[in-house]
Amino acid sequence: MDKKRYFITVHGIVQGVGFRPFVYNIAYKFNIKGWVNNNSEGVYIDATGTKEDLEAFLSNIKNSPPPLSKVTKVIVETLEYIEYENFTIKESQIDENKITLISPDMAICDDCLKDIRDPHNRRYGYPFTNCTNCGPRFSIIKFIPYDRDKTTMEKFKMCPSCLHEYTDPRNRRFHAQPNACKTCGPSVYVLDKNGNEIKTEDPIKFIGEKIKEGCIAAIKGLSGFHLCCNGEDNFAINKLRNRKNRPSKAFAVMAKDMEIIKKHCNVNKLEEEILTGIRKPIVLLQKKSSCTLPESLAPYNKNLGVMLPYTPLHEILFWNSPELLVMTSANISGLPLEYINETAYDHLNNIADYFLMHNRDIYMPVDDSVTKVLLNKEFIIRRARGYAPNPMNYKDVKQLLCCGPNMKNTFAVSKENMIFLSSHIGDLENLETYEHYKRNIHHFINIFKVSPEAIIVDKHPLYMSTSFGEEYSKNNNVPLIYAQHHHAHLASCLAENKISHKVLGIIYDGTGYGDDEAIWGGEFLIGDLKDYKRIAHLSYVKLQGGDAAIKEPIRSLMAHLEASPLAHKEDIAFKLFGDKGISILKLVQKNFNCIKTSSIGRLFDAVSCLLNICTKQSYEGEASILLEQAIERDMSYNCMNIYRYTIEKNQDCYTINAGNIIEDIISELNLNNSKSNISKKFHDTVIDFTLHTALKIKEEFHINEVALSGGVFQNSYLLTNLTKVLTDAGFMVYTHSLYPSNDGGISLGQIAIGNEILKTKKP
Ligand code: ZN
Ligand code: ZN
Ligand code: FE
Repeated sequence: MDKKRYFITVHGIVQGVGFRPFVYNIAYKFNIKGWVNNNSEGVYIDATGTKEDLEAFLSNIKNSPPPLSKVTKVIVETLEYIEYENFTIKESQIDENKITLISPDMAICDDCLKDIRDPHNRRYGYPFTNCTNCGPRFSIIKFIPYDRDKTTMEKFKMCPSCLHEYTDPRNRRFHAQPNACKTCGPSVYVLDKNGNEIKTEDPIKFIGEKIKEGCIAAIKGLSGFHLCCNGEDNFAINKLRNRKNRPSKAFAVMAKDMEIIKKHCNVNKLEEEILTGIRKPIVLLQKKSSCTLPESLAPYNKNLGVMLPYTPLHEILFWNSPELLVMTSANISGLPLEYINETAYDHLNNIADYFLMHNRDIYMPVDDSVTKVLLNKEFIIRRARGYAPNPMNYKDVKQLLCCGPNMKNTFAVSKENMIFLSSHIGDLENLETYEHYKRNIHHFINIFKVSPEAIIVDKHPLYMSTSFGEEYSKNNNVPLIYAQHHHAHLASCLAENKISHKVLGIIYDGTGYGDDEAIWGGEFLIGDLKDYKRIAHLSYVKLQGGDAAIKEPIRSLMAHLEASPLAHKEDIAFKLFGDKGISILKLVQKNFNCIKTSSIGRLFDAVSCLLNICTKQSYEGEASILLEQAIERDMSYNCMNIYRYTIEKNQDCYTINAGNIIEDIISELNLNNSKSNISKKFHDTVIDFTLHTALKIKEEFHINEVALSGGVFQNSYLLTNLTKVLTDAGFMVYTHSLYPSNDGGISLGQIAIGNEILKTKKP
């Protein structure tokens, strides 16, 4: 039969994910002769066979590649036929200057699960089992190319059985760099709180049993430590809260299996897909009304962050532990995630009773990702394990470094049509997190070989990330570009939705440095990736007390009270909060240490405080989260029952005045209307004034596409109902999905802005 020869180039994440053995196996299946190799561009395949076989071979590559790979492009050239004897895997050809894509750490695959559950398998109960389809990647890689000797697995020499798997192209563990077994690989051990090793046959079982007894354990996992206790033991949970000094922020839990999750939470199809998929993030689910779990897991919260075991170690832990475990990132309040055995022990020995340690080092710690389902799609809140550093394709992007915001920091680099967002770094508020940030940036620049053509920073003069960028730019003689915070939010949403034309950006946020040096955060911008114009915003109020204002919602309330048309404000302030109320109000009236703000986050804080739902925040966003949680289940927007507001036009900007809202809520409180009703009515008012401001802008500027971004849109009630009413009013609405709407998405927007500015700059 007539034979043909195809030369196939496959682009995407195709290295370190079992792509070559996959190609080898389907070549065997379809009787293809030739070779496959890895190179900097991706994978090359020289394939000969009949036309039918070649087409079937090609269709398999395109349609059923290995689970961790991501094929972005397949190019096929027909070459002159030559005869090959067999099909071989050739040595890699790595061009030093080209990018090597690195897979995130992935959850254990079904085949490896079968191995560790099978008493006859040599990996039965082995907590570091992995293969080319699963296991650690990014967190253990020190240098590239991705070979074992450049990872933290370097110190373990493979035994003959493991080496055989590693070198056999037909084996699932062919070139699985972290391949290991009981004989040759990493192992676990237990320390008590005094640092003494406890002699036990089965360290994981020992820990599971201690957790059953009510102890707190620090457990070293895939890419960092967790603090862990029985999720159904109220006493243990409160003990953990006290020791960790975390009074009320919800704890994530890990459940033994799907059945346990469904016992306590409502789970829809997409949520189940994400929970059981290859990344296994924490998914925020709605607790069932019949849920009997302790309230202390997530106080005053109808949601619960849940994940499934994502490593063999976690899976084995559940063989002897309670079926639902608190699994919270192990760090001391505000500091980065613990990942080094010695420092984790030093920092956590007042919190944990026991430590489950192991000797596979983590090179780069990565936090658990947090996600939820909104508007029938995934909506990421914290993008980390399983997601970062997967790139976003972005055509013709320059080489850039974007330093990100100060809170919920991520940074980003870009090169060769790809943007690499770092995983969640945290709040750059202390030296430790800042050091962690710098180490991550240098790691990204090294492994992706980026030499930035420009550095992009936030305009805020006091951000640590901004100072870092300024210094980097100076030391490396690279141009610096400042991007306004809310423009970056808008650009982030546009970049994610692949839009480059002008739209109306509605950016509802906590804090961002405005062009007039005020704190912005309730903004309507008409803009694209390059430019923007502020068309409307929430009226300014005077926020007193600097950074304290964010921790103390009472300061937001006094700012809004002062700006309201109410009479006898001092009496109201006193009635609500006694002397403290009056004294803050007076400072606002005198404009002492005040800053102007249009932040809608602060309006939510004010209302939350007014309803006495949250008067002091123990974590960022607490006041608005609890305000949303006060709304009864299954309610939705009703435009007939809202508070009064006004939209005025001053010069060329609309302002939305919320003064009457505060006035109306105070009178309803006097009438004993419930918190739940007031919260709902307040949310509906926000939705209503947003819609009507957008309609005015639509009429004047003929723009009917809206992008919603900013941290406040993590509010599910607000985002879903606003999207619905805007859509019903004829708007095309764009929202975030795989990149956070909160400040975790800022660095993506900074890349889009910087790239656009460089592109249009005259040479
Ligand atoms: Zn596997
Ligand atoms: Zn071995
Ligand atoms: Fe922001």
